[in-house]
Amino acid sequence: MYTGRFAPSPTGPLHLGSLLTALASWLWARHAGGEWLVRIEDLDPPREPPGAALSILASLCAHGLSHPSPVLWQSTRCSAYDAAVQQLLATGEAFHCTCSRQDLLAGEHAAQCPQSVDPPSEPAAVRVKIGTGTVGFDDEILGKVRAPVSADSFVVQRRDGLYSYHLAVVVDDAFQRVSHIVRGRDLLDSTPYHLRLQELLGLSRPTYAHLPLLLNEDGQKLSKQAHAAALDDSRAHENIRRCLRALGQTLPPADGSDSVQALLDTAIARWEPRRIPRDDVDAASLPG
Ligand code: GLU
Repeated sequence: MYTGRFAPSPTGPLHLGSLLTALASWLWARHAGGEWLVRIEDLDPPREPPGAALSILASLCAHGLSHPSPVLWQSTRCSAYDAAVQQLLATGEAFHCTCSRQDLLAGEHAAQCPQSVDPPSEPAAVRVKIGTGTVGFDDEILGKVRAPVSADSFVVQRRDGLYSYHLAVVVDDAFQRVSHIVRGRDLLDSTPYHLRLQELLGLSRPTYAHLPLLLNEDGQKLSKQAHAAALDDSRAHENIRRCLRALGQTLPPADGSDSVQALLDTAIARWEPRRIPRDDVDAASLPG
């Protein structure tokens, strides 16, 4: 059974770049006759403006990207993340660490860092060991890739108690039985950490596909940080057409008469992942 998902962090409204990811993962799942899930990754409250998650869900709806199953909110999943941290500590491959970022950048743990499986008396992060170098894996779009790992451990729970993206995404993809992960290429370098956690937690490995990014006129990825414009939901048809172009798909002629639903139905039928470009795409080059 093919199960895909879209897993936005609610740090702002959807923009064209995030719609591209949502649309590609939706089309891939629908073309395969599978299920498509939405998970809101609301794990970092200081970075989440009020209303952002609901605005994302409203935009998905306005663009016809339906998801029959209820949304999973990561903020409700802390006991599962805690259990995973305990499981990682029990393998001996995770440890408590009190070092600052500066200490670790210097390449060594501070002399007073416990580096222990048992929790120390002061607040500590939990880190997982990983071998440095590169990790190879197969990507449905990019083929054989090698992603770099530069540090010999990574955080799964921060000193302030918040769980890391790496931990939560792996735990929830397994919990939701996600078989195919389709996401932006900016997350390619996260994949080695996810494979490592799957191995340590005894979880099966999903298939990965990393999409090209949409770039602004300065050559930067469209993102909230780079002030990408929020999607105009009243122009769903045009937004979808622009994303289909970025994904290299063949479009029906733009006669302006077909509904969003009809456009999506055609896109499902014509979906050809092999046409997705491997290089990033200039958003300004995409007419509707
Ligand atoms: N929540 C992540 C983001 O918004 C994406 C997670 C994923 O697709 O693995 O960038």
